[in-house]
Amino acid sequence: MSTQMTEEISCPQCGAVVKTELWPGVDASRDPELRARVLEESIFDWCCPECGYSARFLYPFLYHDPKRGFMIYLSPNGAGCEGVDVEVEFPQLAGVTKRMVTTPEALKEKILIFEAGLNDVAVELVKFALAGVLDKKHGKKTLAAYFCYADEVKNEIGFTFLLEGTSEPVRRHMRMDAYCKSLEIAKTAGSAQTGGFCLVDFVTAQRILENYRESENR
Ligand SMILES: [Zn+2]
Repeated sequence: MSTQMTEEISCPQCGAVVKTELWPGVDASRDPELRARVLEESIFDWCCPECGYSARFLYPFLYHDPKRGFMIYLSPNGAGCEGVDVEVEFPQLAGVTKRMVTTPEALKEKILIFEAGLNDVAVELVKFALAGVLDKKHGKKTLAAYFCYADEVKNEIGFTFLLEGTSEPVRRHMRMDAYCKSLEIAKTAGSAQTGGFCLVDFVTAQRILENYRESENR
């Protein structure tokens, strides 16, 4: 079940106090319209009815897809559930994939990855490799990169990249074979799962690749 609460938020521009609906917990299978708002990146939009000031209002947010078996915790300040062994306290969540993210973009990306039935560690590895190619080719560092789609028929996995010094996102794709190879590496690196909600991002990919290369050279 999704959880809703109402909070009074003061408009930073005109000072009006606005009753605002927040959704600290979303159950994707019961509330498909909330899922759609997460994917449209509109669920955190806030607009003042008095003066029209609009902004993004972020708060700790738990997205749960019980049918597909994953949970994603958006923690805007990066604070996790340290010290809480989720699997001990909530044994019913033992088989559920649990991730933590710090931005709504990363939340959306994880949903797209898991809905496509992909392994997010392997996806991060492909993204990391592509970012390296872009850096070599254009001499530009990747500021952010997001998974967009996987197409088995076209044999493609697609991403958008935000590169240093450019405002337009760059689209790139790779063959799904790269994903399959990354999946093997992800499996040899062991599961990213811990007892709780873990971060699987660029840094994770870097660490896994370093370990993998070391083991290859041994
Ligand atoms: Zn206002």
